[in-house]
Amino acid sequence: GAEKIIQVFSEGFQVDNHELFITPSIGVSLYPSDGLDAETLVKNADTAMYRAKEQGRNNYHLYTETSSSASVERVAMESSLHWAVEREEFILHYQPRLSIKTGHILGAEALVRWQHPDLGVIPPAQFIPLAEATGLIVPIGEWVIRTACAQNKAWQDAGFPSMDIAVNVSMRQFHQKDLDKIVKRILDDTGLAPEYLGLELTESILMQSPDVAVGILHKLKSMGVEISIDDFGTGYSSLNYLKIFPIHAVKLDRSFVSDITTNPDDAAIAEAVVAMTHGMKLKVIAEGVETLEQLEFLRSLNCDEMQGYFVSRPVPSAEFEMLLR
Ligand code: C2E
Ligand code: CA
Ligand code: CA
Repeated sequence: GAEKIIQVFSEGFQVDNHELFITPSIGVSLYPSDGLDAETLVKNADTAMYRAKEQGRNNYHLYTETSSSASVERVAMESSLHWAVEREEFILHYQPRLSIKTGHILGAEALVRWQHPDLGVIPPAQFIPLAEATGLIVPIGEWVIRTACAQNKAWQDAGFPSMDIAVNVSMRQFHQKDLDKIVKRILDDTGLAPEYLGLELTESILMQSPDVAVGILHKLKSMGVEISIDDFGTGYSSLNYLKIFPIHAVKLDRSFVSDITTNPDDAAIAEAVVAMTHGMKLKVIAEGVETLEQLEFLRSLNCDEMQGYFVSRPVPSAEFEMLLR
């Protein structure tokens, strides 16, 4: 049956003088061995379909329970990731960013979590790479920016002191066509002023094709959005580019902060990063500050801002509001 369907599709269709070709991927599940109700059958057929896609298009695949490998898990995750935005399964947690000098909250970083109906809460490290590989990061990322902006505006409207909200942007999202227009539309729709939105990009995203990156960054910057370099120190940055990227801040990676008081090399790197960024009139934000000793050390280096479990883990919006209070 599946082979016949694929064969029929392969002949193409005539629509308004256009010859259209479709390359179907078919997943098959059988009653009763693969499920006793429609929901299970469709779910398993869906899993089988993603298996077929993995093997190249124009293909079909029979569902098999025995092939429960990592790949099947991945495939199952991918198929549920497709629906996760519509089903509103994502939520954002917010982690405060503070001034080391005054202790005031200057902003929040929005961090996405996926509340999977069967698998529970899935951290971003487990699904962002998959979302990136499948392109699903584009709608997910847009949802994140929109939700973070709307939340920040809601906090401002509720009378809390204005602060900025930072959102992580992935490689594919950064290079998506018209990212600046999408951001602009979200700001217009939510009514958030652009200076209260920040975008975080890793060194590797910016350095992959730095000349292209400079152009995109300038478009975003000219709208008034602030840009920082995430996980600084883990990748490779050309100092030359660092000088021409229109950025606002550098986030010193957690890996340097965690041993800053015990490992002289990490302490030296942190010191050098602070000196260099200050030389370029940029701010330094230390990530992953967990202890008072680390905080005091960073203060002695003149580091500007901090984030970390020492002050707060990323928390749901209601809890963040208590921190603001
Ligand atoms: P990141 O941007 O470097 O975010 C900081 C990560 O460090 C967060 O992990 C945060 O929970 C964790 N963290 C913060 N303070 C501490 C600390 O004191 N100690 C320790 N051990 N960890 C701390 P999370 O939320 O699991 O996010 C992991 C990564 O996933 C993020 O790293 C970011 O690269 C990515 N990510 C998260 N949300 C998004 C998103 O909406 N879009 C994209 N593209 N990526 C996201
Ligand atoms: Ca980040
Ligand atoms: Ca980071």
